[in-house]
Amino acid sequence: MNPIYLDNNATTRVAPEVLEEMLPYLRDLYGNPSSMHTFGGQLHRKIEEAREKVASLLNALPEEIIFTSCGTESDDTAIMSAVESLPRKKHVITTRVEHPAVLNFCRHIARKGYRATFVPVNNLGRLDTDFLFKSIDDDTAVVSIMYANNETGVVFPIAGIAEKLKERGVLFHTDAVQAGGKIPLDLKELPVDMLSLSGHKLHAPKGIGVLYVRRGTRFSPYIIGGHQERGRRAGTENVASIIGLGKACEIAAKHIHKEAADLKRLCDRLETSLLNCCPDTRVNGDTENRLPNTTNISFEYVEGEAILLRLNEFGICASSGSACTSGSLEPSHVLRAMGIPYTAVHGSIRFSLSRYTTEKEIDRVIEVMPGIIRELRELSPFGREKIVCPPE
Ligand code: PLP
Repeated sequence: MNPIYLDNNATTRVAPEVLEEMLPYLRDLYGNPSSMHTFGGQLHRKIEEAREKVASLLNALPEEIIFTSCGTESDDTAIMSAVESLPRKKHVITTRVEHPAVLNFCRHIARKGYRATFVPVNNLGRLDTDFLFKSIDDDTAVVSIMYANNETGVVFPIAGIAEKLKERGVLFHTDAVQAGGKIPLDLKELPVDMLSLSGHKLHAPKGIGVLYVRRGTRFSPYIIGGHQERGRRAGTENVASIIGLGKACEIAAKHIHKEAADLKRLCDRLETSLLNCCPDTRVNGDTENRLPNTTNISFEYVEGEAILLRLNEFGICASSGSACTSGSLEPSHVLRAMGIPYTAVHGSIRFSLSRYTTEKEIDRVIEVMPGIIRELRELSPFGREKIVCPPE
């Protein structure tokens, strides 16, 4: 039986049309695009067609698109390129709620002699933009701020920030890995210098990413070697995945407005129903500025891990911000940065929908969830005191 897959911010299903488009390049047309012979060389044209499709989704120029291996590589390249292009500047600014791809990279370069500032958010996950602008000084090389948060779906006001940073002459990168393909991104209207995308968040395969670099932006490659990607990212191209990503972007561009509206309706219904039928629940994050597919709900006095295990028995896949399930020792740094109490962080569940999520699947979650929460709360011999919280 197919699972009810509500973990699309972790990864998405490869769209059947994308797989179809890729298969010939895995099976028969396996040449190297750099080869002199036609068998390989013909692939060059296909890569350029895919680049045009990605550029079209972003309203960018094809030459501004660099294919990478993933969102993480795109993020790291953007920050590294900025600090290498401006060698006298030693300060980077990011936020406390970034994905580890940016957060840990900034911590890494901070250990190598750079200064890193981490901008806080409020209890709705909204960015403290005053803090951001006050943090900029003559030493600032780059600001990297995510477009949308992977855990809460909160969307930051990137266009407004970008305008201000342009006036201050600071390079600006945005990690749009969670926004790409879900909400419109128009780089003619959005004056960022660099932007990251990841294929597997928008129904292309894992292992393919994009770094957009605005024409005229100073760029220093991170992966050094051959001449691929016009010398900006060495390594033999992941031809099939690039072609798949092109197709995924083409599909996303065609349906983005309708899909966003459909997702929002389904996601809102799930959220409202769960809040209504489960007591002691709360939504984490700014519901006014949020991705249409994401809701992060805390079920107080229950462990997120226990909820996920019970959901799993019903064939429902979601994810949690509690320490046990997030693969780290610490509970969600995003929810903690928002000042969400420990009891709520531990019981937080993220549901993230996709174009393949059906009404029936949402109905099923609404049907089983109240029973799961009731049962887990009753099972707990200590009731509400079961979760031992460290002092705030
Ligand atoms: N940035 C954000 C906001 C993400 O959600 C993710 C993945 O979850 C990444 C970066 C990393 O992307 P990838 O898995 O392609 O390296």
